[in-house]
Amino acid sequence: MWLVNFINKDVVAQNENKRSMVALRILYMVLFVAFATDVLAFGVDAFNVFPYRIFGFFAVNIVLFALTYNTRTRTSVIMFVFYVFAWTLAMIPCFGWSAGMQNYYILILMLCFFAVPGKPVYKFVLASIVLVARIATIGIYGGVKPIVEIASIQDKILQISNISAVYIAIILISYIYSHDEIEAEDKLMKYNDKLKKEAGTDQLTGLVNRRRALEYLQELRDANFSSFISIAMGDIDFFKKVNDTYGHDAGDEVLKSVANTMKEVCGSKGLVSRWGGEEFLIIFADVNGDDAFIDMEKLRREISKRTIVVGEQEINITMTIGLTEYNIKKNIENAIKEADEKLYLGKTNGRNQVVY
Ligand code: GH3
Ligand code: MG
Ligand code: MG
Repeated sequence: MWLVNFINKDVVAQNENKRSMVALRILYMVLFVAFATDVLAFGVDAFNVFPYRIFGFFAVNIVLFALTYNTRTRTSVIMFVFYVFAWTLAMIPCFGWSAGMQNYYILILMLCFFAVPGKPVYKFVLASIVLVARIATIGIYGGVKPIVEIASIQDKILQISNISAVYIAIILISYIYSHDEIEAEDKLMKYNDKLKKEAGTDQLTGLVNRRRALEYLQELRDANFSSFISIAMGDIDFFKKVNDTYGHDAGDEVLKSVANTMKEVCGSKGLVSRWGGEEFLIIFADVNGDDAFIDMEKLRREISKRTIVVGEQEINITMTIGLTEYNIKKNIENAIKEADEKLYLGKTNGRNQVVY
């Protein structure tokens, strides 16, 4: 069971499907076993005649296998292709043509089709290159004898080992790529959701951003939401002074703290968004202006009451809020403008107040 989990481990990149990596891991294992069998069949001569190639094969196999756990799929596939090419070309003259090393090209061909993302034409080009390489191999090595004389039984074992490995690998690749479609789709959908969420979230405060707030209003409108909608625009008073006095980082901490207070006080009834800078837009669906006013007063009081501690500093701030009841027949821009005008009124009237 641990072996299955080990091979099945997910890939680093969240938007990539793990299928190709699982296929590569299995292929490395199949090649490892097949080549170990080849070397055993060839006997001790193998180590005497081409020690570096043999140790090189196993070392690179293990390294590339390990790399499937922390590289991108494309990189791993390319490394596999080069590895198999290099290994095959290095081994045909040692084990002889009849050992069937050249059959491993079929695995490269399959991976070009299944594991390399891209347009079909690109895949056909890659496949053609593999075919040309395969034909060239015949020209160069066709019919070569093993580097040292081996018994016919050894030759047969080599053939069986290599052709079995190729068959098993083809079966496994076919199975993996025709299998877990659902899992792949599920992963992609989750990734899409995550991207969507990130696109609608303000990085600093974790509130939804302006874009998502506008989208939400549009959704309410598209759904012909017929009940009350109240919109409030809040702006921190003299925030520039906070930055000037305590520094920009402290300003950021204040923004985070205010965002938390807003979520705490009115997050269950309305959607709190960071409209920009130190301005926040709150959308209350199904809450009339009078009720929203009570909540906004509560929020204003809460913000002015709390002391925000940043390092050694204790910072007190206030917020001015403009509130309007939005009628679905008005357009969204006008409603937001109205809330903004009321906010401005509150600023000129002495700040730290809710204007409705
Ligand atoms: P008023 O009471 O009239 O709103 O005064 P104010 O100083 O709050 O208004 P003003 O619009 O002049 O200044 C807003 C300041 O907010 C200016 C800008 O540097 C600061 N600010 C905007 N975004 C951020 C931010 O993400 N982090 C920090 N630390 N400051 C920001
Ligand atoms: Mg402002
Ligand atoms: Mg301000």
